[in-house]
Amino acid sequence: MKNLKIALSHLFSQNGKNFIFVTDTQSLYELDEDIYAVLKAIHDTEDKLVPPSTFDEGTEEELLACHVLVNADDIREDRRRVPEDFIPQIRVGNVLLQIANDCNLNCIYCYGSGGSYGRKREMMSWDTAKKAIDYMVEHCADQERLLVTFFGGEPLMNFPLIKQIIAYCDEIRAKTGKKFSYSMTTNGTIMNDEILDYIKRYRISTMVSMDGPKSIQDSYRCYENGCGSFDKIVPNIEKLKKVRGNHLTVRSTVCRPDMDMCKIRRELLALGFTNVVMSPVDTDPDSPLFVGGEYSKDLIESYRKLAEELVEEAKKTGRIDNILFSKAVESIYNRAQKIRSCTAGRSGFAVGSNGLIYPCQRFMGMEEYAVGDVDSGIDPEKIKVYFHATVVEKESCPDCWAKYLCGAGCVHTAVSQTGDPMKAPLDYCETYRTIYEIGLYIYSELKAFDDSFFDKLFKPTKQEVVC
Ligand code: SF4
Ligand code: SF4
Repeated sequence: MKNLKIALSHLFSQNGKNFIFVTDTQSLYELDEDIYAVLKAIHDTEDKLVPPSTFDEGTEEELLACHVLVNADDIREDRRRVPEDFIPQIRVGNVLLQIANDCNLNCIYCYGSGGSYGRKREMMSWDTAKKAIDYMVEHCADQERLLVTFFGGEPLMNFPLIKQIIAYCDEIRAKTGKKFSYSMTTNGTIMNDEILDYIKRYRISTMVSMDGPKSIQDSYRCYENGCGSFDKIVPNIEKLKKVRGNHLTVRSTVCRPDMDMCKIRRELLALGFTNVVMSPVDTDPDSPLFVGGEYSKDLIESYRKLAEELVEEAKKTGRIDNILFSKAVESIYNRAQKIRSCTAGRSGFAVGSNGLIYPCQRFMGMEEYAVGDVDSGIDPEKIKVYFHATVVEKESCPDCWAKYLCGAGCVHTAVSQTGDPMKAPLDYCETYRTIYEIGLYIYSELKAFDDSFFDKLFKPTKQEVVC
């Protein structure tokens, strides 16, 4: 006798439609009302076992073929565990350099405490930058293209060092054939012809941090004297866009009370940006800006409205203009099983202006999470945890329906909210699962609109999506 149960999955309804998303196959199916009600009732039980004769033979066969139902005796433990005694090889493929541990702005939510990460304000030295680049080149194995990110504080406060690094990378390329790509996150307030020329010549992928229209920007992102930064940035947007081939991404931090993402996005697009990345503020729950906890329902509502707007736009443009949703949708399209969310601590590292090496920029200033320094290199023992932090091993992830869309989440968020990189931050998980559910809805709407919509948008790939 078959011992059937409902596979790890998520059942949800939106705009009068009922869906099931099957985790292992990353497949989304629309269900009719009756089947949905039966599946939902079983799904809500603890063991999710299907009582005999629940479905007629044809329906049961169909549900088995779609992997909505599985034979409970066939479920095996996921074997993709990293062995306990595993010692990582040091491999560095992308390095983020904290060019300046200082910032000319003093944003009220800055996790870097005004750009200085609670340390003395300083510029990275040439000696530190050179050692960091040399370390990456020596430890990149056979990776041909290496990524250097200029970060701060505000990296353009130390533009001379950026020029020196690029010149040095050019020398390395001439000697070794290694190619370098560059990216930079800037607040957009410091700009001149020479900087623009470098951005153009070296194709520095540039992301501007800006929160929205003048009223929002000037209340969150001010200079130390309290003056807003909006008027300083606006003239630079068109210049930057021109040197970036008419393409410019803005990263907006969403804070309470200004949580209307549709409005913020429209205003940023009207200023000239071509791509808007929006992230909820990462701040203390006691902060008046905090959007988690009791406020997360407002955040979700805002995401739902944004999703409706994105769907209507995508029908006209053929694009999904939001990185969070487009990555989720791409992952569903590719049926990719993302088991980690990013390269932090495995092949991606951040080097502080003082030469300490961290798993990523978010850890800068948390010295207990430094994994080495540019003189002695990375300690393999200290990066082991970043190999273990997968959906297979992290607490709560193996049974989470969204695990392959999430990839075990951000390690830094886990550390800052639970104190343990191997624990899932449950508040964050709740919010993100709902965001992924909205991503599934976007997928289904666009697929229904045009069955080949995603074939035109994405190239099929099995690659891991990187943060
Ligand atoms: S971090 Fe949370 S949302 Fe992400 S896979 Fe783990 S349990 Fe799921
Ligand atoms: S997802 Fe988190 S840990 Fe990974 S790079 Fe981004 S901030 Fe760092």
